[in-house]
Amino acid sequence: MGFTSHKRHLIAGNWKMNELLSEAKDLVTHLGENPAEDHVEVALMPPYTLLHPLADLLGERNIRLGAQNVYFEPQGAFTGSISPLMLRDAGCHYVIIGHSERRDIMGETNEQIRAKLHAAWESGLEPVLCIGEHLDERENGETNAVLRSQLVVLEGAPEGAPITVAYEPVWAIGTGKTATAEQVTETHAYIHEELTRLGMDCRVLYGGSVNPGNAEELMACPGVEGALVGGASLDADSFTAIIQAAANVANRV
Ligand code: PEP
Repeated sequence: MGFTSHKRHLIAGNWKMNELLSEAKDLVTHLGENPAEDHVEVALMPPYTLLHPLADLLGERNIRLGAQNVYFEPQGAFTGSISPLMLRDAGCHYVIIGHSERRDIMGETNEQIRAKLHAAWESGLEPVLCIGEHLDERENGETNAVLRSQLVVLEGAPEGAPITVAYEPVWAIGTGKTATAEQVTETHAYIHEELTRLGMDCRVLYGGSVNPGNAEELMACPGVEGALVGGASLDADSFTAIIQAAANVANRV
């Protein structure tokens, strides 16, 4: 394959709109002191309300924090919004941008996603840009065209801007259906090719019903450099098993 493998693989837990403080405390306690293995980085993306308490709870532990969304203005009269600097202040390293739930349910557009990316970079956050096709688009052979149309938001990115891309086929999110190793390998190869064309050299995660039973096979696909995990990240044992699966793969390379 024509791409290099990037730094450490990332296993990131997207908690979506789940967990109260007491539940989050339990979950983090059960994750253990240091779930991150040498070749695997671990991040948690809880709801906004849990960022500050989790930053305190995680302390010096080897787990990074991320948010699930951000607004693109730095401050002001934008009731209900959170700025990139607020996320930095709450201890975030990462921010998810362009998750399919935000595109599909909240109507987020490429223009807004691009603005969010630039705002995140200006504040020193590393965006995790989510891209992915719907089932009808895959069935109509439009997957690559859809991914290309979503990746255009990276045109004009500042040189060396930190970014992680997460390929999440929408039909595999929260459905229990995962893409096959063949589909993942083929699609990640296309995404890396497109990123190279855009002058970006970054890590590409897979997301969509990753669980302890399929993690090792998915993480072993060429061009996959970690996972964005939704449902299975809400269970400490499952999330730990996925981290372990990624470590097994990384240690073989
Ligand atoms: C996600 O929402 O980013 C995700 C991958 O969810 P799940 O693992 O539940 O499919």
